Amino acid sequence: MSKKIIVTIDGPAGAGKSTTAKAVAEKTGLPYLDTGALYRAVAWKLDKEGVAPEDGDKIAETLKDFKIEVAGGKVTADGEDVTQAIRTARVDSIVSAYAARPEVRDALAGFQRAQAVNGLVADGRDMGTVIFPDAELKIFLTASAEERARRRCAEREAKGESADYDEILKQVIERDRYDMTREIAPLRPAQGCVILDSTDMSAAEVVDAIASLAKEIEAQENR
Ligand code: C5P
Repeated sequence: MSKKIIVTIDGPAGAGKSTTAKAVAEKTGLPYLDTGALYRAVAWKLDKEGVAPEDGDKIAETLKDFKIEVAGGKVTADGEDVTQAIRTARVDSIVSAYAARPEVRDALAGFQRAQAVNGLVADGRDMGTVIFPDAELKIFLTASAEERARRRCAEREAKGESADYDEILKQVIERDRYDMTREIAPLRPAQGCVILDSTDMSAAEVVDAIASLAKEIEAQENR
């Protein structure tokens, strides 16, 4: 059987990681894992249960029996379909505070590694730095904050939701600050990664660039 590679795509909020990773997975035939969705599902659960981000013991206790499943773009939490519920402005605004907790990161680390048995394209913040440091291809995908806020706005509007650019830009900057300055697994380019600034690139150009690199590396690994 041919060796399946691991491709990690990390970067700030709104850089297009999920859309890119999904398309790269399709082009390469590798499975796709959206790790942001896992953190969102956990934040959704803890928020619903009224557990504060500061309450480490309660977080660990609540997550002990918490079951997440991700398949075919659907996210299920304790058997409930939360695919839509984890994409609200509420979850956007609380997720980073929970993601900074060691109890939350520990609960998700094993789950993420277990998904990689048949190779993987995974997007997140610490895929290349912490979860898969030996991945065959590590990408740091970024774009200017203004461009990322514009893309988020367009995404919301396409779904028929209202979107306030200034508010979204403020949130994007705030979430980056939180993700980059936290003590555990801060967002930063992994050692040996390829840094891709997509500000002036089309979505298709970004996907093509990463998919070609992935295919080249997979061919090398199987030579
Ligand atoms: O990528 P997405 O915007 O869905 O991620 C939501 C939040 O989850 C991020 O702002 C970050 O705080 C957290 N996250 C993380 N590590 C990952 C993926 C997401 O801390 N690997």
